[in-house]
Amino acid sequence: MKRTGTRFRVQKALTHYDTIVIGSGIGGLCTAALLAKTGQKVCVLEQHYTAGGYTHVYERGGYEWDVGVHYIGEVHKPWSVIRRVFDVITDGQLEWAEMDQHYDHIVIGGKEFRYLAGRDAFKEEIKRHFPEESAAIDRYVDLISEVSSKIPRFFAGQALPRSLGTLYNKLRRRLFPAYFFQSTREVLEGLTQNQELIGVLTAQWGDYGLPPAQAAFVMHAMVAKHYITGGNYPVGGSVRIAETIIPVIEATGGHVFTYAGVEQVLVKDNTAYGVKMAKDGHVITADKIVSCAGLLPTYDKLLPKTVAAPLGLLKQTEQVKPSASHVCIYAGFNGDSKTLKLPKTNYWLYPEFNHDLSVKRFMDSPGMDFPMIYISFPSAKDPDWNRRYPDKSTVEIVAPSFPHWFEQWKGSTWNKRGEDYEAFKEKISQVLLEALYQHQPQLREALDFYELSTPLSTEWFQWNQVGEIYGLEHTVKRFEQHWIHPQTEIKNFYLTGSDVVTAGVGGALMGGVLCTARMLGWKAYKVKQMIADAYQTEPSSTAQTASNV
Ligand SMILES: Cc1cc2nc3c(=O)[nH]c(=O)nc-3n(C[C@H](O)[C@H](O)[C@H](O)COP(=O)(O)OP(=O)(O)OC[C@H]3O[C@@H](n4cnc5c(N)ncnc54)[C@H](O)[C@@H]3O)c2cc1C
Repeated sequence: MKRTGTRFRVQKALTHYDTIVIGSGIGGLCTAALLAKTGQKVCVLEQHYTAGGYTHVYERGGYEWDVGVHYIGEVHKPWSVIRRVFDVITDGQLEWAEMDQHYDHIVIGGKEFRYLAGRDAFKEEIKRHFPEESAAIDRYVDLISEVSSKIPRFFAGQALPRSLGTLYNKLRRRLFPAYFFQSTREVLEGLTQNQELIGVLTAQWGDYGLPPAQAAFVMHAMVAKHYITGGNYPVGGSVRIAETIIPVIEATGGHVFTYAGVEQVLVKDNTAYGVKMAKDGHVITADKIVSCAGLLPTYDKLLPKTVAAPLGLLKQTEQVKPSASHVCIYAGFNGDSKTLKLPKTNYWLYPEFNHDLSVKRFMDSPGMDFPMIYISFPSAKDPDWNRRYPDKSTVEIVAPSFPHWFEQWKGSTWNKRGEDYEAFKEKISQVLLEALYQHQPQLREALDFYELSTPLSTEWFQWNQVGEIYGLEHTVKRFEQHWIHPQTEIKNFYLTGSDVVTAGVGGALMGGVLCTARMLGWKAYKVKQMIADAYQTEPSSTAQTASNV
């Protein structure tokens, strides 16, 4: 069984650490590893049986699947900030495999479109379908580059002391162009009135969980830019992420414990000083406490109400909502990816070009008219897969869903939810498998194993609010919440991970960096230096490529 981290035992833990991190998502592991690199003893406490948060993998029926890593952009460029940070926190041990140049395949109402890696290739391919929209496509790609060049400044407040940082966040509306505070649809309709083109350009909305009229354009632009030079997958599967970071945390005497749920952050005189474990009330203390459990679960559940309420934190949480939830089929097939002709490309299936309308219809009707189905072929993306799982392949099929579909089983125990739950899951599974067979018919005969996760499974394994997959939802309103900051109003208590910046492995990783920078204060230069040193020489050939893509 592929598990990372060490099962928690009181005897194995210290009584006091420099820092305790609650939750081992990539943001938490990043913060822990960077602090360890500055010499700190850090303890990561993860409630799940394995570390990594959404980057963990699970095994069943002789197969292995990742749960929240289908592709990551930019890491194929060793000079990119994301790659440098990964190289620092893994001591360069994590390797990446590029997907096909054709990284996303979009099918809308039967028409097919390809997202090709490289700005020029991307534009040319979309222009092939919309030659009369050439200027709008150029402007769109320029705009997403423009946004991403301003992103470091947009989030700069997160590394400042809380009072200055939240003031900076408040002033952002004056400091940044209006499109930073508009929805994706508003901005795209400013570029073109061609609804089919808008449907194609926003076909990655599943990557942030909101259709164009609801999603902040800034989020859309970050995601589009993140992938426009291509997608990558961790060699050896996403388990390698935690596997390669944990030794760095342990090198300075730190620990990454699993089965280590935290019930409460201990606070005295508005200063955090430790945590109480969920299982037995055991207390561990630390100079600083960091939560990677998500902003809403942290403020709603981990902080004592007597602390959160007087500070107004519970009122603040009313301004933001948890993001979408999903169902996912984890399927295993007989035969290797080559024999089964599986692509290193993600499939995005949509019923129509107007994603807002299809989402609305889905929300209004009780049926399974999914507004989006996403298919990933992880075994094809991983060059190390065949060594570990010869003659087998895997597929994941993701679709949005609603927590209320599963309300009647809420509170029941995982794997013991009863026959009606299993029957409902089976109904959804067949809809999703049929969508797969439409595009990869050869897989029908090769199916060997499948199981469906629901928002209840996600909630069970993540300890989050309603099985949300992207932390806080990425509306314009979310990016106007100036109070969202890694340094909380409680002394020595910090937030890391996706809610500090944005969802996505890259977003949560940068949340980890900014949280660490804030924790270290003036000593943050050490982290900056490590990241700068991770890649110093940019050969002219790669510099050339960089300007091309
Ligand atoms: C289906 C799906 C597909 C995705 N695909 C991609 C993709 O292809 N590319 C990409 O970049 N991103 C993708 N993402 C998003 C990405 O995985 C996440 O945004 C990112 O990993 C979140 O990291 P995080 O640091 O915020 O913490 P999380 O991964 O959310 O981890 C939080 C951790 O805290 C733990 N925890 C919670 N409460 C407690 C407690 N009280 N005590 C102890 N531990 C606790 C949880 O168990 C969990 O391990 C996907 C996500 C999902 C769900």
